[in-house]
Amino acid sequence: MQTRLWAVLVLSLAVALIALASLAPAYAEQPVAAARNVILLIGDGMGPAQLEAGRREAAATGRQFAMDSMPVRSAMTTLSYGGNITDSAASATALATGCKTVNRALGIDPHGAHLPNIAEAVKAAGGMVGLVSTCSITSATPAGFVVHIDDRGSGRDIARALIEARTDLVLGGGAALFMPTLFERARPALEMAKEAGYTVVMEKDELEAASGLPLLGLFAPTDMAYEVDRDPAEEPSLRRMAQKALDLLAASSGEAGFFLMVEGGRIDHACHANDAARLPAEVAAFDDAIWAVLDFARRRGDTLVIVTADHETGQLEVRRDGQLVFGSDDHTDTPVPVFAEGPGQEWFDVDMLDNTDIAKLMARALGVLLERSAVEVRRPEIGWASAQRLQQIIRPAHIADPASYVGIASR
Ligand SMILES: [Zn+2]
Repeated sequence: MQTRLWAVLVLSLAVALIALASLAPAYAEQPVAAARNVILLIGDGMGPAQLEAGRREAAATGRQFAMDSMPVRSAMTTLSYGGNITDSAASATALATGCKTVNRALGIDPHGAHLPNIAEAVKAAGGMVGLVSTCSITSATPAGFVVHIDDRGSGRDIARALIEARTDLVLGGGAALFMPTLFERARPALEMAKEAGYTVVMEKDELEAASGLPLLGLFAPTDMAYEVDRDPAEEPSLRRMAQKALDLLAASSGEAGFFLMVEGGRIDHACHANDAARLPAEVAAFDDAIWAVLDFARRRGDTLVIVTADHETGQLEVRRDGQLVFGSDDHTDTPVPVFAEGPGQEWFDVDMLDNTDIAKLMARALGVLLERSAVEVRRPEIGWASAQRLQQIIRPAHIADPASYVGIASR
């Protein structure tokens, strides 16, 4: 009897310890180098309802939804420094550096100090870096992975910084910001790129023919077209740009690996405009690019794929009949979805992440170190009820266990 009581005590103590351990942060301080490559896909402005709109659009066109085939699903808080509703600059900085900053700032902390980012850490370790977006490639989300600047509006400086950082692959819109102008004394980024040995392409056919890095592809003067307006003969799809990026980065980076950021940038624009006609196709096109990335990663088994958003835009609600109803024309603090697949995916399998966690987990997966900021920022929290509702939206009951149709190469 004594022994049995003792056994029960020991067992309950063990259970308590395991429970406590699982409350600790999901990531350790030290990098573990689980993955050779990391691909981060960002749906700008893609909250849970935008996701549902894209899911319905994909279903309507008889296509499986890539995000629903990923085995790990979670949610993520996005507030910027000071507990403010974030813009894309502060959120990209958090995703790239692991540190909160003020809105409009890129790659610097609230006091102006330089924040090391994941792209620099990968380059320092001998790897390669690619950025792909349907927006101007100088816009806040891609820029946050490269530059250190106090105002996201300095597009021409950002263009130069992208080249100065020797970003190996740059594909998107924003050609106008790389071109010479009459009133600027600084050298245009296009000239710098050519001098630095970049292949520069501006046509879809030239992209197809491109065979080496570094590569700069600019397919529109500012942002690329919305998916529903896109002329397939003129502008490559996000999926095609992502495929090309993967082909070139995989061929050139070899053992050292690469970090690739792919942005579905105009989801945010459709939501600011409360444009229910353009939004679903925009999310579905982003999801189509995710299929290309998953095809690549599933063939290899050495690549961690993460899909998330920088913030929600438009306070969108999808009514039962599928009608899209916007409650705002601006960003909100609604937590956004996170999906993960590949080596290290289990670190994302927690109830709620913060955008700063993504940088830390990517660094851990790649075995590179990001320096910590001296600025301590309290983690934002959301109420239990909203967390529950969010989980229902992200993990709808009608979707079968995704693990049942996805084979993950484990290592
Ligand atoms: Zn926005």
